[in-house]
Amino acid sequence: MSEFSLIYRHFKNATKPNASTVLGIGDDCAASQILPNHHLVSCMDTLVAGRHFPINTSAYAIGYKSVAVNLSDLASMGATPFGILLGLSLPEHLANDEFLSEFTRGISDICGQFHVELIGGDTTKSDILTICVTALGTIKNGQAIRRSGAKIGDIICVSGEIGSASFALENILQHGRGVLNAPNSAIYHTLDCPKPHVDLGQKLVGFASSMIDISDGLGQDLGHILSASQVGAMIDLSAIPTNPLLLQLPYAQKWQHQLNGGDDYQLCLTINHSDLKKFNQLYPDLIYPIGKIVRDEGLQLFFDKKPIEFKINGWNHFNTR
Ligand code: ADP
Ligand code: MG
Repeated sequence: MSEFSLIYRHFKNATKPNASTVLGIGDDCAASQILPNHHLVSCMDTLVAGRHFPINTSAYAIGYKSVAVNLSDLASMGATPFGILLGLSLPEHLANDEFLSEFTRGISDICGQFHVELIGGDTTKSDILTICVTALGTIKNGQAIRRSGAKIGDIICVSGEIGSASFALENILQHGRGVLNAPNSAIYHTLDCPKPHVDLGQKLVGFASSMIDISDGLGQDLGHILSASQVGAMIDLSAIPTNPLLLQLPYAQKWQHQLNGGDDYQLCLTINHSDLKKFNQLYPDLIYPIGKIVRDEGLQLFFDKKPIEFKINGWNHFNTR
């Protein structure tokens, strides 16, 4: 298959047309219409086979996840996504309809959920499958939720279960995919096809004082909010939403998945008391308090009101320790 037949066959009509798109795949660039008084919000995430997903991940999940992790970054700013660009470095043995149609089905499903259009990209041959997605979104001028806005006294909340994806990854790496039976194998889904909290991110505009998505572990990602905001935090470990499968683990293992595991793509945010009350009245049961922002810098952990010592060492590609 030639590069061009591959692009036209698999990518040209992979997603539904979107009102923002003036010009999509087929020219040197795409062109998009941005609403007046809005900022363009953009991000990029690269996924390398064997590093960001296990080698035995399905083509569908690889496509799905490459887009989901980027939409999660837009969600963490409160932005509304409209388009993606797909940089695909493809080994020869995967340049076939079998792989590409499943890969594109994953992309098409996640894009369809959020009215996002694949508007362009680049395709090249490579030894290792590498997918680099750029996601584009918009937000009203000045409304993006940054990491730097946390204030002393704010409540720290998360959008759902923490640690499930890390638990699933450990199981797959140690035992392969067959070991957990239905319904427990549903936890693999949290790793393969994470749910970007795009709608929730938009609802939190005007409420959250700071926000981040948890890709590298709650400890490390909350740490980014703390250093950007120059504050500290107290976390009640028993308040973290937890999948029943993790509740069966010894505490240290459970906390390792929750604080240092990655790939959850839940939102972690700070919000002041009265805004939390208003938000919960408008949108009940979407965010879960797990702690509060304090003056003393650093992260203090508690369980049953007792302080806990736990080393935070979330994912870092160039960790030399
Ligand atoms: P150029 O040589 O000008 O960079 P290409 O021949 O690489 O253009 O691409 C032709 C068209 O196909 C462009 O519109 C480009 O955005 C699109 N395209 C190429 N690869 C992909 C891809 N992996 N996914 C989506 N669109 C792609
Ligand atoms: Mg090109």
